[in-house]
Amino acid sequence: MSTQFRIAIPALLAVLAAACAVSPTGRRQLALVSEDSAIVASEEAYAMQIGELRKEGKILSESSRVAQRVDAITGRLVAQAIELRPDTADWKWSVEIIDDPEVVNAWCMAGGRMAVYTGLIQKLDPTDDELAQVMAHEISHAVANHTAERMSVAIATNAGVALAGILSEDAQRTMTAAALAAAVAIQMPNSRTAESEADEIGIELAAKAGYNPNAAITLWDKMANVAGNGPPQFLSTHPSPANRREKLAELAPQMMAYYEQARRNAPTRSVARAER
Ligand SMILES: [Zn+2]
Repeated sequence: MSTQFRIAIPALLAVLAAACAVSPTGRRQLALVSEDSAIVASEEAYAMQIGELRKEGKILSESSRVAQRVDAITGRLVAQAIELRPDTADWKWSVEIIDDPEVVNAWCMAGGRMAVYTGLIQKLDPTDDELAQVMAHEISHAVANHTAERMSVAIATNAGVALAGILSEDAQRTMTAAALAAAVAIQMPNSRTAESEADEIGIELAAKAGYNPNAAITLWDKMANVAGNGPPQFLSTHPSPANRREKLAELAPQMMAYYEQARRNAPTRSVARAER
């Protein structure tokens, strides 16, 4: 853990007002970090991480087939996220594809900054419907303010040690404490409650964007199969609620009407790339 991260925490805590928020499913969240702070911090962490990866040649070109596929899917999902939470129209929604065939992971930060790893696409071999479920689930974590929740945990537990291997020491030195907490937050597991919430919101977002709700079930089956060769990062940050499969199987039929209505003509919203 970097020393200045440890030192910076009390100062950070001093300036953050304790906030009580309510998630879209009505759950009360106690947050040390306000959502606005989480968005600012995530923006900085994202620029730093993607900037480093781009220098290493690990960001896929936007003209690549994979990038175009991911853009098309996330564009439709973001349009639905904005329907659900109109204030997120102001978010800087963007997605990057990180070229790392060993990493089965994807995430979305507060403020709409997303990433998916080539390992997830290569190892899971998801259909468009399944890939949409992954991204819808991630987007749901962000719109339900789970980033701020995880940042709060990162700060409260002083989890700077989780930074090892994520960022270069140079990057860690130049980032603000809040941005470091945001970078740590996406590496930390969500709570099981947050997982259930993201499952619930995600399957609906995806259905309204025209993606088959049954893919939420097959996606998690595929994820479990890949786990046989060592658990993918995605499963370590997304602990499975015990009854996830049953819950999703119960929700899927209720989502079919949305899906049928949207599948022919779902609106889309373009997702810009992060600034170079
Ligand atoms: Zn999750």
